[in-house]
Amino acid sequence: MSIFDSALTQLNNAARHIKLPEGLLEKLQQPERIIQLNIPLKKDNGKIELMKGYRVQYNNDLGPYKGGLRFHPQVDMDEVKALAFWMMIKNAVVDLPFGGGKGGIEIDPKNLSVKELERLSREFTKFLAPNIGGGMDVPAPDINTNAKIMDWIADEYIKVQSANLPVGKAGCKVKSEKTQLRAVVTGKSIKNGGSEGREQATGLGGYFVLERLIKKLGLKRPVTVAIQGFGNVGSNMAKILYENGYRIVAVSDVKGGIYDRNNTGFNIDLVRKCKEEKGFLAGCYCIGSVCDLAKKYEDGVISNQDLLELKIDILIPAAIENVITKDNARKIKAKIVFEMANGPTTAEADQILNKRGILLMPDVLANSGGVTVSYFEWLQNMTNKKWSLKKVNNQLKKKMETAFTKVWQISQKEKVNLRTAAYILALERIVAKT
Ligand code: GLU
Repeated sequence: MSIFDSALTQLNNAARHIKLPEGLLEKLQQPERIIQLNIPLKKDNGKIELMKGYRVQYNNDLGPYKGGLRFHPQVDMDEVKALAFWMMIKNAVVDLPFGGGKGGIEIDPKNLSVKELERLSREFTKFLAPNIGGGMDVPAPDINTNAKIMDWIADEYIKVQSANLPVGKAGCKVKSEKTQLRAVVTGKSIKNGGSEGREQATGLGGYFVLERLIKKLGLKRPVTVAIQGFGNVGSNMAKILYENGYRIVAVSDVKGGIYDRNNTGFNIDLVRKCKEEKGFLAGCYCIGSVCDLAKKYEDGVISNQDLLELKIDILIPAAIENVITKDNARKIKAKIVFEMANGPTTAEADQILNKRGILLMPDVLANSGGVTVSYFEWLQNMTNKKWSLKKVNNQLKKKMETAFTKVWQISQKEKVNLRTAAYILALERIVAKT
């Protein structure tokens, strides 16, 4: 089953529980618009290479299309369609005035020089410029994209659009229009119109939801956690959980991971520092734990696959999609799977976990903190205001807790799992606008 088919299975499962106007389900089963590009990248050696780029504008019933841009070798049309679809559901779950979109380029940016990366991002923006904008479609960071890339995109977009501003509009007017033009992307650096708190937002939002969940379930503390993925989402989530008394006993990145068999948990500040210095986690075991014996060091290394099967309280997939599949779902021993990645669990695995009584907190709620603070950034740009970190985090907490409560109530009332409950909530909101 393709990733997009898996996403549609989730939609169809929820659609059975809610009366939809005729034709709406069919409409939501495909994107409104697909943009497919061949982007010429001028390499440092002067050669031109064509890169495949995509932007899927899935649905804008609730507002401008909204969702990230991913630079990854695995990016293809099927994946981008699924990710854009999930953005539609996610934005509706957390009640943002946005529809769903997603984009990306099939590339491993680690093979590019900084200059090449900048040229590629700017070229991509020139192609997309007629179809993006604060009131139309608002990209943001995703895997392997960051504030620096968003700054280049905003800058290039403003250049293109400024060239189109009517002659004679000068001075303040143009300046304020330019300020609003920055709302074309979120996740920018603070000095270029980004919001306080955006970088940690996905992890912090996840933490707010997890706290609520643990209270509801009456889970005994300290809680043990394993996290797959140590990029922006995984490492920030690890840090926040660590600071709040959770025991992070295993973490991994693409190159492998580390596991503390004693279950006391790593000092995540040290692990983050070690990863920064080394560039990967596998050698960081002795830094973050109590070990200084070679044997323990060897014991402490764990593969990405084995990490998923550890006996812990909470498993947090925070990397890419399709990691919990029908092949390993029976081996998962965690009490809760908390999806910080988009689409980490296939539809078949979902069913298996459900049957086994493993509670799953779905991506469309768990990781919606990132796009929520993107919304705050967009709002600040559109109204030319600046929010304090305290205000951003308070508003984020409110949004996440409200969404959690609503999803929980629906799951109790309809006797459905949390994923289906989240989809029901999203569909109700979309129906109300159509
Ligand atoms: N890429 C993030 C996500 O998957 C954030 C999207 C955004 O901020 O628009 O939710």
